[in-house]
Amino acid sequence: MKNSNGYFWKMLLFVAAATLPVAIVAFWLQSHDHLNQNYVWLLIGAAALPAVFLYNRIVREIHAVAIRMEKAAQSPELKVEEQFTSRAGLLPVDELLLTMQHYRRVLRHLLEEAQSRQDDAILLFDMLPDPIFVLDKKRRIRQTNAAAKVFFNTETMEGDLTAYIRHPSLLKAVEASFRGEGNSERIEFAIPDAVLRHVAAYVVNLDEEDDIESRLIVTLHDVTASKRLEQMRVDFVANASHELRTPLAILIGALETLMGPARDDLRAHQRFLAMMEAQSTRMSQLIDDLLSLSQIEVNEHSRPSGQVNLTEVIQNVTGLIRTRACDMGKSIRLVVPDGPVHVTADADQLTQVFTNLVDNGLKYSRGNSEIDVVVTLNGKDAIVAVTDKGEGIDASHLPRLTERFYRVDSDRSRQLGGTGLGLAIVKHIVSRHRGQLDITSTVGEGSTFTVRLPLRV
Ligand code: ADP
Repeated sequence: MKNSNGYFWKMLLFVAAATLPVAIVAFWLQSHDHLNQNYVWLLIGAAALPAVFLYNRIVREIHAVAIRMEKAAQSPELKVEEQFTSRAGLLPVDELLLTMQHYRRVLRHLLEEAQSRQDDAILLFDMLPDPIFVLDKKRRIRQTNAAAKVFFNTETMEGDLTAYIRHPSLLKAVEASFRGEGNSERIEFAIPDAVLRHVAAYVVNLDEEDDIESRLIVTLHDVTASKRLEQMRVDFVANASHELRTPLAILIGALETLMGPARDDLRAHQRFLAMMEAQSTRMSQLIDDLLSLSQIEVNEHSRPSGQVNLTEVIQNVTGLIRTRACDMGKSIRLVVPDGPVHVTADADQLTQVFTNLVDNGLKYSRGNSEIDVVVTLNGKDAIVAVTDKGEGIDASHLPRLTERFYRVDSDRSRQLGGTGLGLAIVKHIVSRHRGQLDITSTVGEGSTFTVRLPLRV
């Protein structure tokens, strides 16, 4: 208990107030000669002593309560009974403390609820798949979610928004929104990166009337994939039309010639009819490949279920192509393991894969060279490698070889009767079989196309 001057004077005041009625009565009795002067002081003294005791007791009890309250505030996990054990005292402090404790509990519950809601909101904000920024009035980033950090490939994001995005239309929308001109429409722009990324952005002002600080939310939506798909669709239609239009134009030209200037020229008839046959075959091949590709794509998600002996499929394919290889002065060397190699597959589709690969090997290899077809087993996989000794393919073309209509040399491919769809078909069939296609090549030496298929368990 502090024995300061303030305390002393307060105690004096309390004692004076408590003994005042006794003093008044004593002095009244003395003035009417009922009490001796000495007894007056004795009486006042006798009244003052309990007052001093009482004051000290009250102060001590209040002090003890203050200490217990402080302790309770510092250790919220303590139970009320441990902090406020009821002790006999002069003041009814226990009820007061229990009421306080009750409100403290209610308050803690409310705080916990608010905290948990805030945690949920932060978690939700962080889990949103699109990059989001919260900006202050000076366009500084106040908060971002995990998707934003992944998008910009950084651990922390702070400072001005322009450190990350500088596109004028977005910055204009941010300024306009801060000026109170409302939320933005969808803003589309591209972000230059290793690969150009297309983004759709939305700007929303979070200001409420009683907000002291202005805040704004910028949401980015990565639309690169859908843009690319859209571009692929447009390219595909253009490419398919172009591929069909070329033989069709030759056919129409030949027909016009046959019906016009070469009407009576029998030798020209032979030449033009042969040309027409070649172009019709090409168109028919193109349509077959297109239909086949779309059919494979439709079923790509459903894995085939048949049991197929891969060795047998490859032996059949090479058997059928061998005669043509001989005609071209080339040979096929086949290496297969002893015994059957069972895979879960669609035999026709596997035949299509290896026919395309061996056929390409023949088309793009040097004269009198050999095409190697080697089947091996590796753990849970069967591996088929088709290697040719040809011109090879430059590394820059490798990632795009399986795109539809992609050719290293279009004229050459067309001359050789290619449609530019063979490897696209191979890729989709292999993917349907949950396998993998790898292409390695050295310019001037040759290429290896490797198909890895899971063995049937
Ligand atoms: P294509 O009908 O033109 O052969 P593909 O889809 O089978 O179409 O192949 C696409 C392109 O990949 C070919 O045009 C060719 O440029 C290249 N290519 C495919 N296989 C080989 C190979 N074995 N050697 C060199 N280039 C190849």
